[in-house]
Amino acid sequence: MSMGFIFGPVPSRRLGLSLGINIIPFKTCSYNCIYCEVGKTTDLTVERKSFFNIEDIKKEFRETIDKVGYIDFVTFSGSGEPTLNKDLGELIRFVKSFKKYKTAVLTNGSLLFKEDVRADLLDADVVIPSLDSVVEKSFKKINMPHKDLSIQKITEGIIQFSKEFKNEIWLEILFAKGVNDSEDDIDALCEVLKQIKPARIQIGTVDRPPAYTTAKKLSNEEMMDIYVYMSSKVGNIDIIGSFNKENDAFYDNIERSVIKMINIRPCSKSELKETFGVDDRKIEEIIDKLIKESKAYKQKFGSKTFIVGNRSVSNL
Ligand code: SF4
Repeated sequence: MSMGFIFGPVPSRRLGLSLGINIIPFKTCSYNCIYCEVGKTTDLTVERKSFFNIEDIKKEFRETIDKVGYIDFVTFSGSGEPTLNKDLGELIRFVKSFKKYKTAVLTNGSLLFKEDVRADLLDADVVIPSLDSVVEKSFKKINMPHKDLSIQKITEGIIQFSKEFKNEIWLEILFAKGVNDSEDDIDALCEVLKQIKPARIQIGTVDRPPAYTTAKKLSNEEMMDIYVYMSSKVGNIDIIGSFNKENDAFYDNIERSVIKMINIRPCSKSELKETFGVDDRKIEEIIDKLIKESKAYKQKFGSKTFIVGNRSVSNL
């Protein structure tokens, strides 16, 4: 009989076709995030345990995996924080022993300051920690952590893990309006991101019914502003959720966002193209239009040509 540890496969924009493993009892977590789509945390804890008989989880995986076809990832995620399960390392190695599946772990990152948690994750192919704010006040407001956690300890843990982990870290940030979206919050976060150097940075906002009504969604325009601002500081980032690069609303905002970006610093055509994920024709069209309207001009530096914003005309 299935115990309900395995779910999916579910199509995921980030992970392709992903088979989920939930190894945590419902809403057992070190955080009680205001935006949590699973609901309010009922067991707020930082204590690692073997919550289930590991053989039951392995058995269900063996029985399920034969029935599912192709999958891209086996993903440890679900209705709580997976690193609270102290069998996580053994389970990752168990899945890897099939030599067919890549593994990903979705974690809130709060326990990475613990050596045993970092060691457990070393065999995963991708670790996706979240880090919504590195400012203690905002962190407490958005993630409502267990009392033993401080953002300093958590940040140090993630940085330490990034030095030890040989595979990819995709860092996820969720913005809630008026909670962790101030310039100070974002500046502080960018400084930490420069130390973590994740392979990918993914930003999103409240897209589904949240656990608390204080979690409000940012508008597309506000998300685009954050996207442009962060891209100028830490390189290319992804927007996830309903407002993303596959969505028309994203493209509607490009011209305005290109202006913002070149007003922050000059960019080459290829940088703009890469940041916004558009083709040559589209980016040339936008640049030509901005030059015509005197909102931008071209400047040569060495062998490269940069597009420079004319702030006096287009300071948005
Ligand atoms: S860390 Fe994840 S599971 Fe825990 S409260 Fe936050 S969103 Fe929910």
